Amino acid sequence: MADVRTFQFFASNEWHDPADGGYFDSENPATGEIWARVPDCRQADIDRAVGAAKAAYYDGPWGRLLPAERGRVLRRIGDVISRYAERLGAIETRDNGKLPGGITPSLQQGGWLQDSWNYYGGMCDKFEGRLIPAEAPNIHNYLKWEPFGVVSMILPWNSPIGTLIWKLAPCLAAGNTVVMKPSEQASCSTLELMDVLAEADLPPGVLNVVTGFGATAGGPLVDHPDVRMVSFTGGTAGGRAVAATAARQVKPLTMELGGKSPQIVLPDADLDLAVNGVAAGIFPAGGQSCISGSRLLVHQSIIGEFLDRLVEVAKKARVGAPDDPATQIGPMANRPHYEAVLDRICKAEAAGHKLLLDGREQCRETGYYIGPTIFGAVPTGSDLAQNEVFGPVVSAEVWDDEEEVIEKANDTIYGLAAGIWSRDVTRAMRMADRVEAGTVYINNYFNAAAQSPVGGFKQSGYGRENGWEGMQCYMQTKSVWLATDPHQPDPFG
Ligand code: NAD
Repeated sequence: MADVRTFQFFASNEWHDPADGGYFDSENPATGEIWARVPDCRQADIDRAVGAAKAAYYDGPWGRLLPAERGRVLRRIGDVISRYAERLGAIETRDNGKLPGGITPSLQQGGWLQDSWNYYGGMCDKFEGRLIPAEAPNIHNYLKWEPFGVVSMILPWNSPIGTLIWKLAPCLAAGNTVVMKPSEQASCSTLELMDVLAEADLPPGVLNVVTGFGATAGGPLVDHPDVRMVSFTGGTAGGRAVAATAARQVKPLTMELGGKSPQIVLPDADLDLAVNGVAAGIFPAGGQSCISGSRLLVHQSIIGEFLDRLVEVAKKARVGAPDDPATQIGPMANRPHYEAVLDRICKAEAAGHKLLLDGREQCRETGYYIGPTIFGAVPTGSDLAQNEVFGPVVSAEVWDDEEEVIEKANDTIYGLAAGIWSRDVTRAMRMADRVEAGTVYINNYFNAAAQSPVGGFKQSGYGRENGWEGMQCYMQTKSVWLATDPHQPDPFG
């Protein structure tokens, strides 16, 4: 058995054992071995972390830093993270099986993670207020942007560090302090991040991490009266629960939730490009990406050829352990999720949907492996077409005319992303206008950048990450009215 590492939680730049919750195990999904013990934080630990963040915001040096000074701190954080990218990536791979080469794995190149810190480091002193020409005599009315104070961040297991950095950089740029709660299924890379950030020399209490479960750590954190804003990334069901808790104190929220993103293939698409793009948009991270293009909407004139070619491409994928350099698709991130994905495949097969490629053939005795799985045409109302699987599973739907495909594409509760594959750019742009999704890709998929806002329509969420909008979510405006010729007659004279 591998050595088991015990983590503590992090508050006020110090490590702590949980007051009364004990520890829970973290399993390596590539091997099924327990490799870490993680604090099962409860109310007393949440109070400690929120107290540290509150003190840092109101009493510490952080709240008094000038925006340009905060910018320098952010760029320093980016440098440190980039230096330790490999160490953070290794921990995350052990926790959730993600490969060097997928999304978080770009940690190993360091590149875009540093981009967020540089981008928002530069934005700290550019978030300008404005003078408002209000219709009021002898008044100078100006608008300024202010932080909320203590912000809580609730994270999913699929890409903890990547998800976190998209939140942390704008949140700190805005001047807030933070308490994070990573997923109980992948907590360790967030804790390791706090360890490496000791080199960035942040004041105590600016960053704090509690670990634990949704009900006993996440709920109390969202509900804590000193937490002024909540930034959530997770499933739509979890998002609804968090929004209901936050509503008790009318807390502002950002919600980055699930998706069932359509890939629309037109009859004039470049088929090599589209087949490769669709395969790359679902399989490499085992389908465990929020924007995975898991619904194929293919024109009836090409569906046979398209699916044959997709099966040929997907068959070549090498499924295996993340530490094997030959591996292209790693395991499902944890056992409950692996079992849930297998269950969805079995139920879809039992419902009579035609399986063109069965990823269950790649299952092993140890570790949680499932290969690319492709279903032929399914009805738009079916479970497979409507509900997120979050695994390497794609199903097709057939269409004949443009009205029909737009209707089908929009016929789910989700609206996170969509892909359109066509040589007719004008038609693709017209369709992009009508698809209800926060991100639309034309002849590409999966691009993202610190400069470009992402987020959901409908039940895929609200609020945005990245770009100017990403920072705005962590700030509120204040309108100040200054009398330039003050006089106030007696109101009752
Ligand atoms: P989840 O909703 O089960 O859990 C997310 C987090 O919420 C965890 O930390 C969990 O402990 C916490 N939580 C759950 N119930 C809670 C409650 N009642 N109160 C407070 N906290 C609670 O999601 P998951 O299974 O960890 O992640 C996978 C999901 O995340 C998928 O649906 C995926 O699409 C989504 N996701 C979305 C984005 C995006 O940007 N839109 C990015 C990554 C993942």
